[in-house]
Amino acid sequence: MTVIIAGAGIGGLALALALERRRIDFLMFDAAEDLKPLGVGINILPHAIGELAEFGLFPTLDAIGVRTRTLRYINMFGQAILDEPRGLYAGHERPQLSIHRGMLHATMLAAVRERCGDAVVRTGHKFERFEQTGTGVTAFFRTLDGGLVEQAGSVLVGADGIHSMVRAQLHPDDGPMGWNGTMMWRGAVDWPLFDGGDTMIVSGDMKEKLLYYPIGRGATDGTMLTNWVLCRIVGDGSAPPPRRESWSRRGDLADILPSAKKYKIPGMDVVAMIEATQDILEYPMCDREPLADWGEGRVTLLGDAAHPMYPVGSNGAAQAVIDGKRLAHHLASGPVPKALTAYEAERIPVTSAIVRSNRGGGPERVVDVVSERAPNGFDRLEDVISHEELAAIGGAYAKMAGFALKEKQA
Ligand SMILES: Cc1cc2nc3c(=O)[nH]c(=O)nc-3n(C[C@H](O)[C@H](O)[C@H](O)COP(=O)(O)OP(=O)(O)OC[C@H]3O[C@@H](n4cnc5c(N)ncnc54)[C@H](O)[C@@H]3O)c2cc1C
Repeated sequence: MTVIIAGAGIGGLALALALERRRIDFLMFDAAEDLKPLGVGINILPHAIGELAEFGLFPTLDAIGVRTRTLRYINMFGQAILDEPRGLYAGHERPQLSIHRGMLHATMLAAVRERCGDAVVRTGHKFERFEQTGTGVTAFFRTLDGGLVEQAGSVLVGADGIHSMVRAQLHPDDGPMGWNGTMMWRGAVDWPLFDGGDTMIVSGDMKEKLLYYPIGRGATDGTMLTNWVLCRIVGDGSAPPPRRESWSRRGDLADILPSAKKYKIPGMDVVAMIEATQDILEYPMCDREPLADWGEGRVTLLGDAAHPMYPVGSNGAAQAVIDGKRLAHHLASGPVPKALTAYEAERIPVTSAIVRSNRGGGPERVVDVVSERAPNGFDRLEDVISHEELAAIGGAYAKMAGFALKEKQA
């Protein structure tokens, strides 16, 4: 069996590593001319760290990233709302890692190349279309010089991200991505260590939200590579985003300074942190309506191609990694069309529920609720919301996304 993987992002590489462990042949094709370590911060939740550990990547990722200890929800004035222990500190067997997406990607790519050889990853090959029969599938890729490359195999997996062309052929009536009117600006900067160097901060509300957390060592002992995300509602969601969704689109400092100035957090100069950031990126909060089925016959999807979701709740990369692992499992367990049906039957309900929950703000809803009830801050948090109500919001999300502790699920 040869598996053709269109897209060598986080999900495609997870599938490749899982197939390699099962001795199933594969070839990957990516549209990019060169697979550079792109992006800024990303979080990998304990359940996906377990899968990456099975690929033997944990020591490297652990050395690069930060073991997140606490997820701290605060209001815009820095008043504490809730501290939620994460990963090991919440009793999981594995940590939650906050890490640079480019370094995670580079680590996975190096492992695939080292284990399977450089030839299995073909860059500068943009998937265009496929044809399938009862016994096989042929994928067609456009090369940078305009040529067309034909690849025959037993299975085709569309791991080609938010603008998946495999998905477009499978679901021609899918339409454009849906946008909720929120724009996100992101960046990573060397910044003085705060709150122990392993705390992720969430502040603001659904109209204007700020997240910041360390994702790696800094240039000096007293600094860390710190990721920040600032979200603001800029439209009513009735029209497409002003610019096409792209993870690499540059943002403009002038667009975010007015929002940044509203944060009065003791010990964190939000404006200075953002002004010190060299590359500011912009990404609209968009997703797609979950599909009832992903593929047909010998073709399926994974990761963002299958279930693009709002990047809240730290689940995009985690779910793509789990898709890859479970797809390899099903391919090793049965004949091809049936294996893909079993994979989709397992993964569609879980990922669809996360897509829908993220639209409501996911676990970050705790700051929305408090801000709604006490927009100018509070004297006593318990007058605004009970601890049980706050904990219930985060706990319900963890259970649905599959990273609640087993004893809590019972
Ligand atoms: C450049 C880049 C930067 C990112 N930065 C961040 C970030 O900072 N924070 C964050 O949370 N998430 C980021 N993401 C998204 C994140 O990686 C995904 O949401 C998540 O990890 C799911 O992974 P995926 O493999 O499904 O998609 P991706 O990781 O997006 O991978 C998709 C891959 O498919 C390739 N591709 C696209 N079209 C075609 C085609 N027609 N033919 C062949 N290959 C194709 C792309 O080049 C890419 O390598 C980024 C993605 C990219 C591509």
